[in-house]
Order: sequence, then structure tokens, then C-alpha cells
Amino acid sequence: MSPGLSAAKSAPLRGLLAALLATASVLLLVGAASAGEVREPQVAPPKDVPYPGTITLDVDVSDTRQGIYRVHEVIPVEPGRQTLLYPKWIPGTHSAAGPIQDLAGLVIKADGERLKWKRDKYAVYAFHVDVPEGVSRLDLTFQYLSERRGHGTMTDRMLMLEWNWVVLYPAGYYSRRITVRPSVTLPKGWQFGTALETASTSGNTTTFKPVALNTLVDSPIYAGRYFKRVDLNPGGDVPVHLDIVADAPKFLEVTDHQLEVHRNLVTQAFRLFGSHHFDHYDFLLSLSDYMTGNGFEHHRSSENGVGADYFTAWKDNATGRDLLAHEFTHSWNGKYRRPADLWTPNYNVPMGDSLLWVYEGLTQYWGFVLTARSGMWTPEQFRQALAMVAAKYDKDRPGFVWRTLLDTTNDPTAAHRSMLPYRSWQMSEEYYGAGQMLWLAVDAKIRVLTNDRKSLDDFARAFYNMHNGSWNVNTYTFDDIVSALNGVVKYDWAGFLHERVNTYTPPLLSGLKASGWKLVYTDTPSEYEKEYMSRPQSPRHLYNFAWSIGITLNDDGVINDVLWKGPAFKAGVSTGATMVAVNGREFSTEFLKRAIANAEQGKEPIELTLKYQGNVYTVPVDYHGGLRYPHLVRIEGTPDYLGEIIAPRK
Ligand SMILES: [Zn+2]
Repeated sequence: MSPGLSAAKSAPLRGLLAALLATASVLLLVGAASAGEVREPQVAPPKDVPYPGTITLDVDVSDTRQGIYRVHEVIPVEPGRQTLLYPKWIPGTHSAAGPIQDLAGLVIKADGERLKWKRDKYAVYAFHVDVPEGVSRLDLTFQYLSERRGHGTMTDRMLMLEWNWVVLYPAGYYSRRITVRPSVTLPKGWQFGTALETASTSGNTTTFKPVALNTLVDSPIYAGRYFKRVDLNPGGDVPVHLDIVADAPKFLEVTDHQLEVHRNLVTQAFRLFGSHHFDHYDFLLSLSDYMTGNGFEHHRSSENGVGADYFTAWKDNATGRDLLAHEFTHSWNGKYRRPADLWTPNYNVPMGDSLLWVYEGLTQYWGFVLTARSGMWTPEQFRQALAMVAAKYDKDRPGFVWRTLLDTTNDPTAAHRSMLPYRSWQMSEEYYGAGQMLWLAVDAKIRVLTNDRKSLDDFARAFYNMHNGSWNVNTYTFDDIVSALNGVVKYDWAGFLHERVNTYTPPLLSGLKASGWKLVYTDTPSEYEKEYMSRPQSPRHLYNFAWSIGITLNDDGVINDVLWKGPAFKAGVSTGATMVAVNGREFSTEFLKRAIANAEQGKEPIELTLKYQGNVYTVPVDYHGGLRYPHLVRIEGTPDYLGEIIAPRK
């Protein structure tokens, strides 16, 4: 998954939900079971044995106007108690994110007779049903409903289909031992991309070859009225394609330069890893201002959802252009090599996220590096993007006083990407950015220890270059990482990693210095940061004063975050307040900038007038450091390892 995408849509409802839940818990106490009752789900644990028969799963997504996925599923069964599971722990989300709230209308029949199902009290993703004697198959019908108010998963021009939304599967089996024959019915004339292989086509319905359930869930479909398929590995030994759906035909235009750098991405990834773990690969790319954005990895494909103008406004949208490189890297790092505690036998066994600083942190590192090596970013854009990451971890990142980087790997489950009142203090999913800085430190350390004869590229070839072409999962532990690093060059890697992953205020910028660069601040943002702040399509359309007075806010003056113990925080500024005036004049971001710059000369505080819950108040911010934006500059007289890291591989 990508940082910052798929933010929770339901955050404003949380207060209401909490109130409802509080009422529910009172009711529960009234009707409580005896204190001695063991509160465990009545669900059989998965076994590594084949599930008898083949499930057929037919999904009709032709109703795009109302956003309804209509499902008909036939499951072969034996008489007796059966438990059907809705996928809960979804690979790539690292959390119990299965959207069961959007499943509706479930009816189960046997030989035309309706059977009553009952949800498990302690496992709400499990449905129990008693199958009568003589019955050999269950017929299920239900719907999955796309979000209709915000950005949904289906528009009148395109849709995405993740199979875990539309399948119930039998408990008691490993997902790889359950066989499914899927089909999809699309609107007339639509085309699609997927890693699934077609068995037959009839009208608007495509039936795919039977696959194991885990391959099905790992093989989503992107379909659309406006579609284009581009070959990214012409003449190569394994097919790689870019399958594009767009809001309008004009957005499908790809220039020669854009085609070249996307092809370079594939070549550079193959050169880095020395292998591939797929028989074919499809980048599913949606260019839309209506369908939800996405960044979701799979073994033989990836979901990449960006704004409609990804190609047409190429020179203005470098921010976030590392998305495809990030998701492609995951095919090696995350899908093929997966942390042992993250691998699960089916979708209803909990995941352990303790190695996400490898799964996501190293992917974030290589996502940036491959974007630069392929030419999708210039070296300068790479450094400007990296400066913004580094600045987040400059000196004391407030939250690292009380949490470790390792502890933030619990965030997918603990925080669900919800809106956080004081993000810098609470922290969220730091294993992405802090993990990236950690791996830069590892890369630089290898170069220092070997006089630049070896690098993290050698680790990549050792750790991923095995069983070429196989897409079985190959799990690893912390000790396997240490051992692979020691295979590159002997060092106390366990201690080196421990110091950064599992201590308070870890030395996360050491890699920058060791690679010949340092972080400085000037009063002018980089071109990359300007774009990051101003691009209206960006979900991060926020003005960044994090490194001066310590706030970020939007065009309307609504304060998105306040840096914990920063100048604004000390003055009493709160997240969620609206800035209505600066030094007695009506708020604008330009005027706030000028006020911060002017305060550098004088001794007067900056007077901020804020509005919150009907109250208006003015606070003095005693800050005289001027505007501050991060940049990287060379440490003269040292080797430029960063330049070597992003140089294209021959
Ligand atoms: Zn990711």
C-alpha cells in the first residue's frame, strides 16, 4: 500500500458511532453472559488440505449508475454445520480492513429452499449455516455496494473490482487450497485489465480460468469505457503491461518520453532485483477525478489510482510519481518475500505487522530510487522529495520521545488511517518514511564499510533473486534480514537496525550524512514542495509551515495539524481551528507568509486570530526564525553516494 492513500472516509461519523457503541455496551451488560463464558468465535481453524470441488463466483458490475456489484456464488458443501467467511485481514492493508459494512442482501439457498444463516457473535465476518442432508451445494446471492457520496470504486466510466469484496469462502481451509472459477459481467463495450487469464467470453461476460482463492483475491480488475493497453517490456522474456482506464479519451495520450521512462522503470527493477516473481505483470492504472485514488500491491499486478491528468499535466505532477515504482517493488518485497508474521493461511487469521519497516520502509526507499533511476524523476526532484521526508525526522520527531519506530507498525490495526488530532505527537505509520531513512543509512553503511564496492543493490540480488518466475510466498524473519546483510558485508547489523527500529529518538538522518548530503532550511520552498502544496488535485492540498511556526493549513485557514511543542502549539493553537486573521488583517496564506518573514526582523510576536466552535480568540506566537523549507545540500569533500544510488543501472 502507499502512504497517505485510502484515508478513512468515515472519520466524521466516529463521534456518533462512539455514542451508539456506548449505548450498546450498556445493553450488553444487561444481557451479559456469565463471567465464566469463554468468548471465542465458533470458527474452524484453517488446514492445509484441499477443499473438495470448485466454487463458481459470478459478479455482475453492469449497474454502474447505482454502484452495485451483484454476486451469485455456488459453493459445493457437505451436510452439517458450515461456516462461510467474509475476508477480513486483507494483504496489503496490513489490517482487518475487509469492508463487511458494504455487503448486503445475503440470501443462502439449497435446492431452491432458503436456509437461515446466523452470524458468529464473536466473529462478525463469519456466517454459520446448517446444511440439510442430501444437499451438495449452496447458492448465495448478495450485493457489494460502492460508496456513493465520496469517491467510490465505480463511476459511469470505470470501476475497480477487488475479489475479496465479493466472495464468501468456507472456513477450515488454507485459501490457496480453495479453487474458484470467477466471471465478471461488465457494461457493454468496456475493456479491462487484470492478472487473471481468460477462459471464455460470452457477450459482456468474461469467464476466467479457475484459480486458487489467494490468487483470485490478489488479482483485481480495472475496467472502463476508455481503455488503453501499453507494452512496457517489448521483446523481454516476461510480459509487462500498463492497463489504463481514464475519465476521457484525451487522458489516455502517452508521449514518447512518458512511455520511455515507464519502460525504464521495468528494466531498472529487473536490474536491481535480478529476477522476477511473476509470469506476467499488469500495472492497473486509473486516471480519474471521480473514482477513489489507490495504491495497492499484488504479486502479478498493482492498483494505481491517480488524478485524470497524470500524463497530460506531466510537468506539474511530480509529487506522488513514485507510486508505480513503489507498487512494482512490492511484487518482490512484500508479495514474494513476506514477513513471516504477516503471512496468513486465510483472510480471517490476524496479521502481525512487526516487519513493516522492511515491507513498506524498504519499498518506499526503492520506490524513490527506481523513480529516479528510470528518469520518472530528475535527480533534483528526487532530492527535493527526499528532503521533505528527511525534515520529518530532523532532530527530535516529537512522537519518537514516547514511541519507537517498531511500535508504529501497529498503526494499520490501531489507527486505521483515521484523522488524528495531533499527528506529529501521535505519529502514524512512520515505518514508511522513517523506514526509508533507515534503509538509506543501511545502503550508505554498506558503501562505507566496503569502500563503495558493494551497496544495498547486492542485498537486493541476494534476498530476492531466487526461484526466478515463481510466485509462491517466501517468508522471512528479522534474523534472515540480518543474515542477508552479513552476506553482503560483515557488521553488527542486528545492533545497527535495533538502534533505529527499537529505541526512542533514533538517529534517522545518519544515512543522509554518510551518503554525502545534509539537510538545510531556506526561506523558499523547492519546486517539488511548491507543487506538493499547491496542486489542487492533491489530497494534500495543504500549506506547510511545519518547519517555521509549526502548523499546516488549507486555503480556508483550517488548521490540519499543529506540531507538538512547536511555536504555534506553545501559543495555544489547536488542530481544527480556523485562522481568520493574522496581525489584525484577514487571513490569506500569502499574508501569513509575509507575517512570518517580517517577524524575523522584529521582536513583536505574530498575532493569530482563530475561530473554533463559535469562539474567536487571538494568540501571540513568539517566533522569529523566519520561513523555513527543507533542502538537501552536498557536504563538500565527501563522496556523493546519493548520486551513485540513483544513477541508472547498466
Ligand atoms: Zn506499500
